[in-house]
Amino acid sequence: MARIMGYRGGYTAQDRRQIEAQMFEGKLMGIVATTALELGVDIGTLDCVVTLGFPYTIANLRQQSGRAGRRNKDSLSVLVGDCFATDQHYMQNPDELFTKPNSELQVDLENMLVLEGHIQCAAYEMPIRPVEDAKYFSKDLAKIAEERLIKDELGYYHCHDRFRPVPSKFVAIRDTEEDHFAIVDISHGKNIVLEELEASRAFFTIYDGAIFLHQGNSYLVRDFQPDRMIAKVEKVKVDWTTQQRDFTDIDPVETELIRRIPGSLSSAFHGSIRITQNVFGYFKIDKKRRILDAVQVDNPPIIRHSKGMWLDVPKRALEILVDRRLNVAGSIHAAEHAVMSLMPNFVISMPGDVRTECKIGLKEFAQKETQRKRPARLTFYDAKGGAGGSGISTKAFEFVDLLLVQALKRVEHCYCEHGCIECVCSELCKHANEVMSKAGSSVILKALLNMSIDVEALPMGPEEMSPVGVETVVLAKPVPGKGRVPVCGE
Ligand SMILES: [Zn+2]
Ligand SMILES: [Zn+2]
Repeated sequence: MARIMGYRGGYTAQDRRQIEAQMFEGKLMGIVATTALELGVDIGTLDCVVTLGFPYTIANLRQQSGRAGRRNKDSLSVLVGDCFATDQHYMQNPDELFTKPNSELQVDLENMLVLEGHIQCAAYEMPIRPVEDAKYFSKDLAKIAEERLIKDELGYYHCHDRFRPVPSKFVAIRDTEEDHFAIVDISHGKNIVLEELEASRAFFTIYDGAIFLHQGNSYLVRDFQPDRMIAKVEKVKVDWTTQQRDFTDIDPVETELIRRIPGSLSSAFHGSIRITQNVFGYFKIDKKRRILDAVQVDNPPIIRHSKGMWLDVPKRALEILVDRRLNVAGSIHAAEHAVMSLMPNFVISMPGDVRTECKIGLKEFAQKETQRKRPARLTFYDAKGGAGGSGISTKAFEFVDLLLVQALKRVEHCYCEHGCIECVCSELCKHANEVMSKAGSSVILKALLNMSIDVEALPMGPEEMSPVGVETVVLAKPVPGKGRVPVCGE
């Protein structure tokens, strides 16, 4: 029997219960887990927790550390810093790990699924009084209570039977509304669900010909049926994995909220985002991450919607970039990464919860004219939560000016020359940080903040890693809204 097992939320309930029980009974020495084990799962108390990479909020780190420690016995919690900007911040300021308060929690009270769960749990603990309790749960509480709770003869509302006996069991702590894809193992005539995969991850992980990893074993995706939300896989013995090649256009389609950036003519925008993903092939990659083969595929684009925020790059910045021959797409991409990687400092979130439009060298360095001219814009969107978003980019939007200031600081104070994982590069980059201009990113951030830019001090391009191609970026045009769009921060 394996003494160490892998564990993640997508495993079948049966597999998870078995791993949890084995850990509880001491049959396992350890579990290598995603954050799925962070809370709400009983595996007994552990002797040691090793957190690989800062889990993006202090609250998560404290939860994880708390898994170790029995009464009267010593325990150990180790944080191994990753190369991300946030990790490096804490590696340089370790005291903050103990002193910094937990950051603000984001609960979307507009989302009925989320809201009802909280109300049912609260009503279970203490009957709800719609008028007095409205301040906690939204002004619609009376209506929700009438429709979904049980009223007693005194006028108090109680948890509905549907949620009993333990209402908290019906409330998922994360991934509340996301669709899941079933990964079905068909090896040797089997037909069993191996695990479930969140829709937002599915398109990056499964496609015909992909290698899917489960408990250290390789499975070949034989038949991916996006409409039926299943992928049939077969166990194979291969020493390579696959990496999807695609380009994704992230386009704001409707402005819903505008926020002025103090002291600047620029604004940040919030609203609906359309995500168009075109998969054109994949790489076969060996253990040393060498490319063995490039396979072409011909799939129709996958279109999804979400919420997000965006900032249009000021004309002044574009002119300076062109003047200094700094790669415009690379400058935008670098600025996007710098801002995105700092979001967890402001909002409880995980890496990958908010994504951006990553630039691909295949297009940006091409010598021939492109059909895909992109607006000069920093765009961020919620990777989870469906068309309504997860609320994380909405929260980040509130702090956008602070985010810009911090991002600029990080770029300027980083000792690297051309950009590194601690400033403008990201391990989450879909295109391996190939198209990057660190110098250009500071031009954009400064222009957005209306700060002066010392043009003479900028390097003269083209930069070493950015071959000159056809310009792929054009000045962004405002995205329309419905009627008069509310402006905050004035
Ligand atoms: Zn750097
Ligand atoms: Zn990227």
